[in-house]
Amino acid sequence: LAAPAFYRFKVGELEATIVSDGPLPLGDASSVFKGATKPEIDKLLTENFASPDKFVAEQNALVVNNGERLVLIDTGVGSVTTFGPNTGRLLSNLRQSGIDPKDIDAVVITHAHVDHLGGLMAGGTRAFPNAQIYMTQVDFDFWTDEGKLGSPLKDFIQIARDSLLPNRDRIVFVKADQEFLPGMHMLSTPGHTVGHFSVVVSSGGQSLCNVADVVHHNVLAPQRPRVQFAFDTDPEQAVASRLRLFDMLATDRVPLLAYHFPWPGLGHLARSADAFRYVPMQLSTVL
Ligand SMILES: [Zn+2]
Repeated sequence: LAAPAFYRFKVGELEATIVSDGPLPLGDASSVFKGATKPEIDKLLTENFASPDKFVAEQNALVVNNGERLVLIDTGVGSVTTFGPNTGRLLSNLRQSGIDPKDIDAVVITHAHVDHLGGLMAGGTRAFPNAQIYMTQVDFDFWTDEGKLGSPLKDFIQIARDSLLPNRDRIVFVKADQEFLPGMHMLSTPGHTVGHFSVVVSSGGQSLCNVADVVHHNVLAPQRPRVQFAFDTDPEQAVASRLRLFDMLATDRVPLLAYHFPWPGLGHLARSADAFRYVPMQLSTVL
C-alpha cells in the first residue's frame, strides 16, 4: 500500500473517517472542463503543480459515527470497471479502517452517478445490508427513468437502475434544508445533477460541509469557479450552486470535504481576488 486509505478525525463530538474507493483517471483536464481554453487550463494547472494531461479524481467517501449510528456518504464505483483497475476499494478500505460494512446504518447518496452509488450492490447483493438509503426523489426519478435507456445517458441510467431499484424499499427521500439524520443537514446544490445535494455535518459548535460534486478539480474549481464540468446535467445551474456554496464556506470559514479532490479532500476555501483558493487542511497523526 502506498498510504493508508482512510483518515480519521473529529467534528465536534463526532468521529469522522474518510475512506477511499480509489482514483478515477479522467485524462486531459481540458477535455472535461468547458469555458476556458486548453492553453488557459494547461497554464493554470502547470503553475499550480497539477498535471494538465493526467487529471485524476479521487473518491473520498465519508463515514460519520455519531455514537448511535454509522453513516456513509457515497459509495464509489463498486464493481464497475470503466475507470480501470484501481477503483472499487471502498469495502476493503472500510474493513482496514475497522468498519464492518454490515454495521453501516445509513448510506447517503448525494447524487445518482456511478461513482457515488456504484458500491451499493456487490455481486448482486446489498453491500450494506442493514442500511437505510438517503437521497433526493428528483435524482431517483431522473436516473432510474426507463425512458432514458435509449439516450446518451443510457450507461448512467442502467447503473443507477441496477443499484437503486433492488433497494427501493430502503430509500428515504430527503428534502431541502432538512436535518435528515441527527447532526446532518441537507443543503440543496443542484446542477451537477437535478437533485444533487451537499451535507453539513455539525456537532459541538463545529461543522464540516461535504460538498460532494459541487467541485471536481482542486485548482480549477476555486480559481475559475465559472468553468463548467462536462458531466453536469445543467452546467449553468452547477456554476450558480458552486458560487453560492463557495461564498458561504469562505464567509463562515467552514471546512469542506470534496469527494474528488486530492486525498483526503479536506480543506478550506479562502477568497482570492474575484475567485477563491483552496487551502488543504493540516492533517493530524493524533485523533
Ligand atoms: Zn462524482
